[in-house]
Amino acid sequence: PKLLQSPYYPEVMQQLKNVFGLDSFRKNQLEAVLSAMDGKDTFVLMPTGGGKSLCYQLPAVCTSGPRRGVSIVVTPLVALMNDQVGQLTKKYRVNAVLWNADNQASSEHITALNQGQIALLYVTPEKLVESNRAKDIFKRLYESGLLARFVIDEAHCISTWGQDFREAYTTLGSLRKEYPNVPIIALTATANKRTVGDIISQLQMRSPLMLIQSFNRQNLSYKVVQKSPRFKFEISNEIKDHYPGKSGIVYCRAKQTCENIAQFLKTQGIIAAYYHAGMEKDDRHRVATDWQENRIQVVVATIAFGMGIDKPDDYNFGDLNTSLRMIRSDDKTTPEAKARQEADVRQMFDFAANQSECRRVQLLQHFDERFDRRLCQKTCDTCADERETVKADVTSVARAAVTLVRSARKAGMSLTPSLLMNGLRGSTNQDIKSKRVDTLDGYGKANDSPQDLVDLVIKHLLHEEYLATDSIKNAHNAFHTDVIVLGPKANEVNHRKEITVAWRPKLKG
Ligand code: ADP
Repeated sequence: PKLLQSPYYPEVMQQLKNVFGLDSFRKNQLEAVLSAMDGKDTFVLMPTGGGKSLCYQLPAVCTSGPRRGVSIVVTPLVALMNDQVGQLTKKYRVNAVLWNADNQASSEHITALNQGQIALLYVTPEKLVESNRAKDIFKRLYESGLLARFVIDEAHCISTWGQDFREAYTTLGSLRKEYPNVPIIALTATANKRTVGDIISQLQMRSPLMLIQSFNRQNLSYKVVQKSPRFKFEISNEIKDHYPGKSGIVYCRAKQTCENIAQFLKTQGIIAAYYHAGMEKDDRHRVATDWQENRIQVVVATIAFGMGIDKPDDYNFGDLNTSLRMIRSDDKTTPEAKARQEADVRQMFDFAANQSECRRVQLLQHFDERFDRRLCQKTCDTCADERETVKADVTSVARAAVTLVRSARKAGMSLTPSLLMNGLRGSTNQDIKSKRVDTLDGYGKANDSPQDLVDLVIKHLLHEEYLATDSIKNAHNAFHTDVIVLGPKANEVNHRKEITVAWRPKLKG
């Protein structure tokens, strides 16, 4: 009710309809719009797709507030910027321009800015803070009172605690000093408490209105499935059985995997295409629109497609390994950032391996949010699972696993995850025989444990760093084979009194 009494409310509602063709606001949008129009610093944490753009685009086209002039929007992704400016000018007929490395400030732009005729100016952080020419223009606008506000989109990029740190974003910390009276709006879809604090202090925001939304997505359900050798078929069956005629995205980490899976899905009669950063811009654009307009049912993509969507994809030990290898070999990142990224990867691995805790509880924990699992209502795989969870004492299996890996090393060999698993369970298959795994210490020590429990133990050992993953180059080709090796804490496994895991035994019968 207080919001409805705002003096800006009538204009805001009118422009919502007239310019954007919308009838009502989503959660927190009106609050953000009015706060921005009022000239207050505003912090918006809203999930992807929640409607962040409107929070700053609408104030930019309203004139009833005390702020005049242009809203300067900083975003890290040039592609996104192009899309937004294209949409604003063509679809909504809003006067918006864009300055980046390819698009320089033209004299028409400058005249229009000086006359207060441009609603939104999208710039890269480099342009805003580092380009002298652009800075001169902004200074003059500032002195004429024609800088309405700064909008920092994807604000988490400023924080080294965030997912996506951008060096250029750190320079945005000088905006407050250089333009002390210009309000700042920061928006992000991904920030935990620490990142939020970091953003606010780096941008020197002044008691901002905090509009923080839960990360719980009621419209999503979650299911984590372990990748089997038949996972291509599993994906295609899942699509055919559960999503006939619906559209979707399959995320993969590697570009090559995207291509392979898309190709395979096509052989299964699914209209699929791949999408990744290694493609030509036009091809990417075509796939994205074809999917948007339902000419393609499934896009198999890397995260280059639809930035920011957090969709847990399938995993195996190798994924953990490859991710860690990628992080460790990147020499542009600082040791601290590497450590954090590694922790993130481990958390993701943990998430995939944890079959007992509600997925929402786990996901939201990542954002420092508490979630009552009763509210999940069986909309995730763990809550939908009817089996009871038991605390299984796996001390002896855990020790045997470390012993087996150690004795393999002494014998000069490396165990793949499946050799380790089958060796522990005392398999006599050909691989075990030919590699003489049955002669090693620890062999068969888990012969009465079910496979899913042993699998859980191995994951637990990897997570706790009793074991680790590594990769060896295959002799015949360039492919890496993932192997299990001793972890930094391998020797501690015998000192631990008890090792337990949360396990859901299969239902009998
Ligand atoms: P975000 O930046 O938070 O990911 P967007 O700003 O791109 O989200 O908005 C996502 C979609 O929601 C867009 O298609 C947008 O037009 C739509 N949208 C935003 N606000 C509203 C609203 N109040 N009513 C209906 N649709 C909206």
